[in-house]
Amino acid sequence: MERRMTKHKRRILALFDEAHALSAHEIHALLPDMDLSTVYRNLERFEQDGILRAIVLEAGRTYYERTTCHEHAHFVCDQCHHVSVLRRAIQLEKRDLPRGVRATHTEVVVHGKCATCA
Ligand SMILES: [Zn+2]
Ligand SMILES: [Zn+2]
Repeated sequence: MERRMTKHKRRILALFDEAHALSAHEIHALLPDMDLSTVYRNLERFEQDGILRAIVLEAGRTYYERTTCHEHAHFVCDQCHHVSVLRRAIQLEKRDLPRGVRATHTEVVVHGKCATCA
């Protein structure tokens, strides 16, 4: 059954129209009147409902993005932590992998400074 879309949920989801991926703290900074615990609770629900997925692009920092995005590579700014998408997916070939492993998906993260910080 589809869960009722609360005002909190709608406000959080609307942020993903502008940003590709956001951390709970970034969402909290954009919606300062919303408790951080409320942000976390709603992100958890979105994840359970398959609307957002959690991605870890940096140690200790979880970002969320819409599950509708296909496999792609990310760029993370080390200064402001803004996440953007590379123009094309980076495909590894079978011969790149260690012998005998079975890969399920590829996560490529390029680090550096974004256009604003550079
Ligand atoms: Zn992404
Ligand atoms: Zn930046």
